[in-house]
Amino acid sequence: MAKQKKMVEAITSMDEDFAKWYTDVVKKAELTDYSGVKGCMVIRPYGYAIWENIQKDLDARFKKTGHENVYMPMLIPESLLQKEKDHVEGFAPEVAWVTQGGQEKLAERLCIRPTSEVLFCEHYQKIINSYRDLPKLYNQWCSVMRWEKTTRPFLRSSEFLWQEGHTMHETEEEARQETMQQLMTYADFYRETLAIPAVIGRKTEKEKFAGARETYTIEPMMHNGVALQGGTSHYFGDGFAKSFGITFTGRDNTLQYPHQTSWGVSTRMIGAIIMVHGDDNGLVLPPKVAPIQVVIVPIAMHKEGVLEKAKELADKLSDTFRVKLDDSDNSPGWKFSEYEMKGVPLRLEIGPKDIEQNQCVLVRRDNREKTFVSLDNLTEEIPKLLQAVHDGLYEKALANLKEKTYTAHDYTEFLDIAANKPGFIKAMWCGDVECENKIKEETGGVKSRCIPFEEEHISDVCVCCGKPAKHQVYWGKQY
Ligand SMILES: [Zn+2]
Repeated sequence: MAKQKKMVEAITSMDEDFAKWYTDVVKKAELTDYSGVKGCMVIRPYGYAIWENIQKDLDARFKKTGHENVYMPMLIPESLLQKEKDHVEGFAPEVAWVTQGGQEKLAERLCIRPTSEVLFCEHYQKIINSYRDLPKLYNQWCSVMRWEKTTRPFLRSSEFLWQEGHTMHETEEEARQETMQQLMTYADFYRETLAIPAVIGRKTEKEKFAGARETYTIEPMMHNGVALQGGTSHYFGDGFAKSFGITFTGRDNTLQYPHQTSWGVSTRMIGAIIMVHGDDNGLVLPPKVAPIQVVIVPIAMHKEGVLEKAKELADKLSDTFRVKLDDSDNSPGWKFSEYEMKGVPLRLEIGPKDIEQNQCVLVRRDNREKTFVSLDNLTEEIPKLLQAVHDGLYEKALANLKEKTYTAHDYTEFLDIAANKPGFIKAMWCGDVECENKIKEETGGVKSRCIPFEEEHISDVCVCCGKPAKHQVYWGKQY
């Protein structure tokens, strides 16, 4: 009986239709599936394994700086949510409510957490009494729900996975340090683990988190020039503490309010990985979060000794790396395409001729470069190649970020760039929300991304209204 030839289906090219390309990759790399509830996604094993690797890395970073994990309930009584005015106003439009338990209608509606500030505050109110109880450095890994109208896997979904850190401090200075430390933890994680460069800075008043005094953000650029808010860190001051009556007896024996922060990143990061590194052959995964770092493909598998040798290598290498041996009866060509689609950083090919010469071929996913490596040197050579893939991905993403960042000196130039060149625009701003609104309206959605920590002086006046400029801002469209 003739064997049926299995084909890896082609995907839409990025340049032809970026949105379609994204959906194709998510589906064909088996990251998610749709569920019966619009906006809620099934994260399949390969997608979830990426999230587990992200979690492991970040969790270790959080614990190293003294944070502890806790778990809060998923339901919030309406009265509790309403305790902080700005916060409830910010979240009310996208909250899902539970109104019935079993057969009975509830006396008070319960919201499914869109974020957990109020739950942490209610708890902190009970356990913080003295300066000796501070700081409290808590983090939670959970899912949250925000009722979204338009959804896309990982980028915008009604339910998504994230971590939310909520901390309380004795002084403003300490809380501000925490806010900045966590922002930098995210920036390092993006660079060192995800191989993604980003613009970092402070959000404007209009774009900051509901109830926060200041919001800081990581803004990576996707391959097509669109921004993704990659992670945020907020300084709250003592606003929530006052609303929730959280007080402590200070070192001078007076009653004081603690200073608060919160910070979070979510499964959106997987969307960033796809859109920053992916290409027309599918996913390209940064080695540190790739569920499979090396896939072993035996060549001429039926020849004596080949499969045995491949198994021996898989056994040996899986002590150090995440390895998969594909000994299925699909053709080597099919396997090459399949693992390219899945973004596996390195492919190890081994056939009869290689075995004769005590070597194998290693192929990089990012640039398809081939290296012949002696079987005796694999444990030394693989880490070098994985690092080379990481560095190659970072350099390519950085080049894209630089290439698609433009400077606008006046409004005509700003509108021209916004209409014709997808990417970030550097321009001066007066500080007024009216200019942000006007720009957003007249450009079809360009928003302020952030005020960078190191501002450039482009001109003396606001690019939009011509009044004296207060800041240099990064502008851009976002997912
Ligand atoms: Zn202005």
